[in-house]
Amino acid sequence: MVSSTVNRYLVAGPCAVESREQVYETARQLHERLAGELSLFRAGVWKPRSRAGAFSGVGEAAFPWLQQIQQEFRLPVCVEVAGASHVESCLQNGITRFWIGARTAVNPFIVQEIADAVRGQQVTVLVKNPAIPDLQLWLGNVERFEKAGVKEVWAVHRGFADSKENILRNAPLWEIPVAFKVARPDLPLLCDPSHISGKKQYIKQIAQIALDYGCDGLMLECHCQPECALSDSEQQLTPEELGELLKSLVFKQPSQNVEDLLRKQRTLIRHIDAQMAQLLARRFSVVQEIAQIKREHNIPLIQPEQWNSVVKNYQQYELKDADYQEFLQNFLNLMHQASLKCQQNTEPSND
Ligand code: PEP
Ligand code: MN
Repeated sequence: MVSSTVNRYLVAGPCAVESREQVYETARQLHERLAGELSLFRAGVWKPRSRAGAFSGVGEAAFPWLQQIQQEFRLPVCVEVAGASHVESCLQNGITRFWIGARTAVNPFIVQEIADAVRGQQVTVLVKNPAIPDLQLWLGNVERFEKAGVKEVWAVHRGFADSKENILRNAPLWEIPVAFKVARPDLPLLCDPSHISGKKQYIKQIAQIALDYGCDGLMLECHCQPECALSDSEQQLTPEELGELLKSLVFKQPSQNVEDLLRKQRTLIRHIDAQMAQLLARRFSVVQEIAQIKREHNIPLIQPEQWNSVVKNYQQYELKDADYQEFLQNFLNLMHQASLKCQQNTEPSND
């Protein structure tokens, strides 16, 4: 589904379809500048808005304009769907690429209804993260589409709603997309820096961080006249600005040398992990032997001086790195608790 000339996913287009002229002109300029690089042209037809009375999309009137864009520029169009009726309406009008918005994504009933509506259809579904920071819900939404037989499922990180007055519109909480990628390395994960930033000036920084973390592409809002946009006007780039942004970003394409180096280091890490696992198992069996001796000689489980000397013993190996020191402290506390639990659980011997 990704353009054959570039190995990255790029989805761009306006927040919303506003008029034939606006959507056509935006698509035309994007096609002129980025033909061959765009995977999909995005355009909201029904817009979820926080306040009643705000512009909520032109609805079905957009379809003839979007069909023209698909045909004239050979640019597949992607639309937000928030219910089965949206899916049906898109399918009747030749639109087979959808995204699930962050607000819809918090409701498993609606996501299931949409998944049922696409069952048996050849569609592409982009699943944005839910507005609340719930990794399992995001993964679960993806699975609903997979179970409905959808072969092309992509994930989109668009940040998380946050009650604090922050510079960014949505908190990126990078640990969540990273955990998503760890759980589903087989799926393309895109970042939507437009909705994370909320303002043009932060888009580049957010996009670069996402690429540095290893995301597979970007979804960006783009409008031929952002200052006149009826929704999300502060975060939309002109096609020219989008072209400049893409030139300035460093897309990660590891060279063979770097890959070889990483493979060697990862092998080393695997060996270290195996040794640690064996050593920890050995340590636990020694702890059980200690528990046995304490029981036989009526010695209390907790002996603070003994534990302090264990901690001191570790300190001689400390790296002068604050993160490492904090990790070591947490690790030692965890190990102490586990040792105590293990000693409590040790069955009295029958000997
Ligand atoms: C959008 O992409 O225009 C949109 C409404 O996104 P989100 O669901 O991420 O807010
Ligand atoms: Mn938007």
